[in-house]
Amino acid sequence: MEVAVKHIWVDCVSGGDWLLNLRRISCDVQVQEVAELLLCLDQKAPDPCSEDSMVWGENMVENYRVKQGYEWWKRDSPGLTSMMSKNLKIWQWKIPLKVKIFLWLVFQQRILTKSYRAKWRPHMDTTCEFCAVDTETVEHMFCSCPAVMQLWNLISVATSSRIRIQNMEDLWTHMVVAPNLGDEAVQVRVASIITPAAVWAIWLTRNGVVFRNQRFYIENLWEMTVGLIRDWGGSLTGARSVNVYRGKIFIT
Ligand SMILES: [Zn+2]
Repeated sequence: MEVAVKHIWVDCVSGGDWLLNLRRISCDVQVQEVAELLLCLDQKAPDPCSEDSMVWGENMVENYRVKQGYEWWKRDSPGLTSMMSKNLKIWQWKIPLKVKIFLWLVFQQRILTKSYRAKWRPHMDTTCEFCAVDTETVEHMFCSCPAVMQLWNLISVATSSRIRIQNMEDLWTHMVVAPNLGDEAVQVRVASIITPAAVWAIWLTRNGVVFRNQRFYIENLWEMTVGLIRDWGGSLTGARSVNVYRGKIFIT
């Protein structure tokens, strides 16, 4: 359906608001797209007197140029520059594409946590579903939530390594290198399986709690993580592989 800006904007005393009455949102990807759109529209009001037209948002007068677009993209992606400087290798990892995209969004701080949603729903409850104490931010959900720290501790024990994840920097470090796990080549390959599996399992578990009223059990989160490590570890080529046996993660 074709729609003009005036059809999705309503003027009011406080300045007006966007009305996105979507008939249905059928999957997480669409939710993400709508969230991105709402963030783009935030604080922006249309001119009711002018015709709709396509303009380049940076200066509103010039045509789009690739260099400008790249500069805008870098500026609008706070996590990107630091990730690029760390020689981002997510796209080469032997894990499902949707998980790679998800990890990319995690480090962009653009997944739909409660604190992210609260940007356009200021009155919503932003309490973490796992610990019911702190605000659910990206860093809290994957790093500092006491419930999730149990998982990192279990992985530490299972890999006989010292995994200490307190912030996003630590999380990234453990994505690209797993300390104390054999030689450097092994560390890189294992880190690119184990840490993403934990992050993906945390997200799936969190969605189960938020959207399907499931209860959080650390045992279930651990089992899910182990299952993913088994599945993805099987895709490693060459002499190396990852196996999980009796609560221990083995690199052979
Ligand atoms: Zn928490």
